Amino acid sequence: MGLNLSVMVIDILTIFPGIVQSAISESLLGKAIQERILEVNVFDLREFADDRHRTVDDSPFGGGAGMVMKVEPIYKGVRHCCDRNSAIKHRVLFTSASGRRLDQPFAEELSRETHIVIMCGRYKGVDERAIELLGAEEVSIGDYVLTGGELPALVIVESTARLLPGYMSKIEAAETDSYTTGLLGYPEYTRPQEFMGKQVPEVLISGHHDNIRRYRRTKSIEKTLRFRPDLVTKAKLSDEDRSIINEITKRELT
Ligand code: SAH
Repeated sequence: MGLNLSVMVIDILTIFPGIVQSAISESLLGKAIQERILEVNVFDLREFADDRHRTVDDSPFGGGAGMVMKVEPIYKGVRHCCDRNSAIKHRVLFTSASGRRLDQPFAEELSRETHIVIMCGRYKGVDERAIELLGAEEVSIGDYVLTGGELPALVIVESTARLLPGYMSKIEAAETDSYTTGLLGYPEYTRPQEFMGKQVPEVLISGHHDNIRRYRRTKSIEKTLRFRPDLVTKAKLSDEDRSIINEITKRELT
């Protein structure tokens, strides 16, 4: 498939290409793609899995229910998208309930990009190392948890596309959402234990449940303090949480 560099290119990686494909072929978005106002390519993440079963998930290090998306297919898939587009700058986004909240200024920022790659999470989320290695930004569409990143990816595409010249005759004002409380999620890891020099945090392999729980709680609080300090103010905190916050604050001051 040739790339038209005069239009914005959005690549979407998913294990359910059908969900995305059907949505982007309808309505204003479908029309805009047909009229080459933007280009949207959908990739099946399983194509980037190496094994016979095209495995994209595995159980989490540190234990717990559910599965985590493996780092290798994601890494290969995103690299493939970046390599086939010669645009100088790639913006890699991962859908995540614990990422930067999508809002109108964010969508405006994205509408000025030339190439955006969106990775759709599933299960409990993705191996944290994929995010780090790819320099990805986690994007949330709001404070609620969906079963997959396909609808959020479509929300990102649509909020961005409608700001492109020629998409709509009249640009409407954005509406703001309201949010509930709670802390953001902690980073997940699955096999392999080491990937491109990146190790899974030692504590998760220790089998020490209380240390794992506290580690995860700390990461959760750290992330919430960083991205959504307003949620920390509203959250119901235990004595342990308060001592974790004190530790984090002390660490940041030194
Ligand atoms: N364990 C995760 C939730 C996993 S839901 C957590 O606590 O944050 C499975 C996938 O759905 C996520 O990896 C993400 O890609 C997508 N998803 C769920 N809710 C989302 C939201 N509000 N915004 C963006 N993506 C979301």
